[in-house]
Amino acid sequence: MPNYEEHVLSGLVSYPFIVLLCGFLTSKVIPVELTPLSLIIGYAFYVLGSDLPDMDHPNALLHRGAKAIVAVLVGGVAYLNLAGSFKLGPPWLDVAVTWGVSALAALGAWYVFTLMMPNHRGVMHSLLFASIYGLLAFLTVEYGLRMRSGEALYVAIVSFCGYTLHLLLDREIKLL
Ligand SMILES: [Zn+2]
Repeated sequence: MPNYEEHVLSGLVSYPFIVLLCGFLTSKVIPVELTPLSLIIGYAFYVLGSDLPDMDHPNALLHRGAKAIVAVLVGGVAYLNLAGSFKLGPPWLDVAVTWGVSALAALGAWYVFTLMMPNHRGVMHSLLFASIYGLLAFLTVEYGLRMRSGEALYVAIVSFCGYTLHLLLDREIKLL
């Protein structure tokens, strides 16, 4: 069972083969665009994908890192929504109390994040999720970064490949 380092390192070093494959596809059937930006963003999505399935394991580095980021985001959003709701005295006291409640929301998110994850090597270790990851990558690059469709298509394909590389190394190739 490969760990975080093996998964990420395998992603880091195998990327040239994916570039080769996509370059070949470009010349044949699929109109992907290999521009410097799409290649670099594709590298990021590919390497992230090479460890992303282990998000479903509470001890995985990615799970623990993402949990902290999600908790901070929830705390920040809670503060934005609650700002001005407490009128207890001086403004500094109101701000401190608002952050007290926001921190509780962050704490809740911390635990809910782990509870909501599917079982380890369950649905997140599937080709269905590899496809969803590829689709999200496409939407991010096409509509979020407003890059060209051929570039987004390239990033989507390498994202799917990075995710699938993880499943291959885990020997857990299933459709769903
Ligand atoms: Zn795994």
